[in-house]
Amino acid sequence: MEEAKGLHLIDEEGRVVLPTIVRNVLKWDEKTPVEIWANPKDHEIVIRQHIFQCLSCGATEHLKPFHKKYICEECQKLISKL
Ligand SMILES: [Zn+2]
Repeated sequence: MEEAKGLHLIDEEGRVVLPTIVRNVLKWDEKTPVEIWANPKDHEIVIRQHIFQCLSCGATEHLKPFHKKYICEECQKLISKL
C-alpha cells in the first residue's frame, strides 16, 4: 500500500486532493470513476475505482450504455434475437 506523506486537509468545499503519487500508482486520471465508502468506526474512508459491468453477464469490456447501466455487445446481440 502506497502512503502519501504529509498531512492533507479537507477544504471548505469538502474536497481532498488525491496526491499524484497515489494516482500514479493506481493509474487513475482525472476521469477515473470512483466509489467512496465511509467507515465511521475506524474514522476512515475507502475510495475504490468503479468498474462498469454488463448488467446481464458481468463483462467489463465492449460495453454500451443501456438505461443508465451497461450491457456488453454479446448480450446485446443475444437480446436482439429474442
Ligand atoms: Zn453481457
